[in-house]
Amino acid sequence: MFEKVLIANRGEIALRILRACKEMGIKTVAVHSQVDRDLKHVRLADESVCIGPNPSPQSYLNIPAIISAMEVTDSIAVHPGYGFLAENADFAEQVQKSGFVFIGPDPNVIRTMGDKVAAIAAMKKAGVPTVPGSDGPLPTDDRDTCQEIARRIGYPIIIKAAAGGGGRGMRVVHTEASLMSSIHITQSEAKGAFGDDTVYMEKFLQNPRHVEIQVLSDGQGNAIHLGDRDCSLQRRHQKVLEEAPAPGIPEDVRESTAQSCVQACIDIGYKGAGTFEFLYEDGNYYFIEMNTRVQVEHPVTEMVTGVDIIKEQIRVCAGEKLSLTQDDIVIRGHAFECRINAEDPKTFMPCPGTIKNYHAPGGFGVRVDSHLYSGYTVPPNYDSMIAKVITHGEDREIALNRMRNALEETVIDGIRTNIPLQQRLVRDTAFREGGVNIHYLEKKLEN
Ligand code: ADP
Repeated sequence: MFEKVLIANRGEIALRILRACKEMGIKTVAVHSQVDRDLKHVRLADESVCIGPNPSPQSYLNIPAIISAMEVTDSIAVHPGYGFLAENADFAEQVQKSGFVFIGPDPNVIRTMGDKVAAIAAMKKAGVPTVPGSDGPLPTDDRDTCQEIARRIGYPIIIKAAAGGGGRGMRVVHTEASLMSSIHITQSEAKGAFGDDTVYMEKFLQNPRHVEIQVLSDGQGNAIHLGDRDCSLQRRHQKVLEEAPAPGIPEDVRESTAQSCVQACIDIGYKGAGTFEFLYEDGNYYFIEMNTRVQVEHPVTEMVTGVDIIKEQIRVCAGEKLSLTQDDIVIRGHAFECRINAEDPKTFMPCPGTIKNYHAPGGFGVRVDSHLYSGYTVPPNYDSMIAKVITHGEDREIALNRMRNALEETVIDGIRTNIPLQQRLVRDTAFREGGVNIHYLEKKLEN
């Protein structure tokens, strides 16, 4: 096992990784920007290094500074968390070239999954269900072929950039009249934003749910899945509230899709924790992308499976074989996660500031992943997520009622948060019934 791991992240996920390392007897190095020296995990780490000023490009995205910090602290491996450099293949490659271990898959796997056309092709080969589409890049100067593909798929269709990410580089087309102009606009936007103008076409699904499957794989021929999560409650493509398992999905469809994800992991030699994201509509799963890192919402899966995803991820990236088999995985009960953001609950504007008084909820089946403490100042420089409240129960209703109580107990004074919105959601009739689609939250906010 690694003697020392450097945590190249901040906030709640840095603390989550630190806790896992401590349990495994691994020494920890925290790296932080100037404003972040008082972060909880920085105080708890064995060593800490300030890697630069507050803007992310100069600190958490500063590859030379992070590699230098690994050198001066004699770190063996780096855990990237999520966001920042977690899916940056160049970073993973430079870590390896400098003689360290990147806790995640090989750089070439990150690169393949970062190219949506390549990712979809790899998934199709493994039998993962994909969205009907162009099966590769569009011949953008061949009008007849583009029109023919669109007619075969059937309108509405969506044009997507192969290199797209973060909900950018996509355009929905409803009729043939606007097809070619939409293709060319998406192409030039993609060129500007990602330096790559490759675009492809997919059927546009009108009312899907967002359902994703968690996997663990050791890169030595062993892979398992940990069931699914439903993350359909989103605002501007940002997830707000997640749950596991996804409600109301036929067991045979879930199982066969999950098995195809396991097969894909084996086929591509995947190492670490990963997530296959799908749109789910009318009983069918449609692959949209794979995230080659640990996700914000991993705790709901941990709660229903009892598996510590971060520890397993570290183990397989240290070269150990997967210690679990599919038969070890049993889904017990139901779990929810509410993301607590430092933001105005009405305008959604970020709301940084000093927390005067903080009380986390507690009790049976309640977990809080957060770096907050009374007196902590939320800086304006980074993501506004400050806590994740997670509840587990024997069934969906118990877990949801537990969440309602947990949110009521939570005290975060001094800044505004989205807790009022979360409280509305856990009381919402349609959400309580289960299975709302990805447009539900935005429509609800309009009323
Ligand atoms: P990104 O990498 O930018 O997040 P994704 O491929 O994951 O891009 O898509 C982001 C979101 O765009 C999805 O969650 C969904 O809301 C919407 N979307 C993408 N593809 C389709 C599709 N074929 N039909 C309907 N909505 C889609």
